[in-house]
Amino acid sequence: MLDVPQRARTGDLPAETRVAALVREAHARYAASQDGTVADYIPILGEADPRLFGLSLTEVDGTVHHAGDADVAFSVQSISKAFVLALVCESIGHEQVHRTVGVNNTGLPFSSVIALELNEGSPMNPMVNAGAIATTALMPGETAEQKWRAVQEGLSRFAGRPLEIDQQVLHSEIASNHRNQGISELLTSYGRLRGQPEEMVEIYTRQCSLLVTADDLAVMGATLADGGVNPRTRQQVVSPEVCRDTLSVLAACGMYERSGEWLFEIGVPAKSGVSGGIVAIAPGKGALGAFSPRLDRAGTSVRGQRACAFLSRSLGLNLFASRIHPPKGSDIDE
Ligand code: GLN
Repeated sequence: MLDVPQRARTGDLPAETRVAALVREAHARYAASQDGTVADYIPILGEADPRLFGLSLTEVDGTVHHAGDADVAFSVQSISKAFVLALVCESIGHEQVHRTVGVNNTGLPFSSVIALELNEGSPMNPMVNAGAIATTALMPGETAEQKWRAVQEGLSRFAGRPLEIDQQVLHSEIASNHRNQGISELLTSYGRLRGQPEEMVEIYTRQCSLLVTADDLAVMGATLADGGVNPRTRQQVVSPEVCRDTLSVLAACGMYERSGEWLFEIGVPAKSGVSGGIVAIAPGKGALGAFSPRLDRAGTSVRGQRACAFLSRSLGLNLFASRIHPPKGSDIDE
């Protein structure tokens, strides 16, 4: 019998002192940038302090490196979609997710209604709002309350600590999320949403209001980077197969219509959220959590993605690279 290794080779991170120095350098490099705009379509998000900027990197062995405002809490927003997808994959499996939600990019913004109409009501993928609401509806539980508990507990297992709702963010979004309500009604009209549309949007909105820090995002991402083992608690949160499936969807769709550019420049699966968070995952190595509220046009943090680009190059995270490439002089466009 051949001795088959259990771990796929993805290379190693540089020495810890080097990683720590590069995380600090990434922060210093972009700290002064004021490019991008803070989201305000959910009114309370417009009140965020645009100066905040935190970076965190958790290695799969649990070593943490951070710089700046890595312990400031903000609502997780769309980054929750990645982890709810993982929980749903764990519950209903690869085939069902493929069939009922889909795994292809829409090429359109995250809240697009046209994308649904162009695809005969298919939500297309779990990272756009339509697909995320449909995915949340597939969480285990008979009632909306049971599904919500499964979401909150599941995301907390990824973070390795109990996550709580920001009530102000929740109420602000509930009072203004007419588009998401419309998307849910449309999904229902196509027979693509399990459960009551108003209830499913509410659970989705609650999951988006959960508070996390850049440090939490790095731990959550590192769990996906290490076959589902949380580096903080050592608990097996989901299976290695589910991590693989989730990361493939993030690579294709995590940055919405700019997912191609993200892969081209940065080359790792990632997810962004409109409050300014990013999680970027380097399988087998660890994950980056970033937070900075000023966004580009697709709704992704500008400083966060510049820092991810710098660290991907200098730490050799890019999945398509066979050697470390020096950081580029030019910046990612706003
Ligand atoms: N809760 C937000 C929404 O549904 C999340 C969007 C995002 O972070 N891209 O609009």
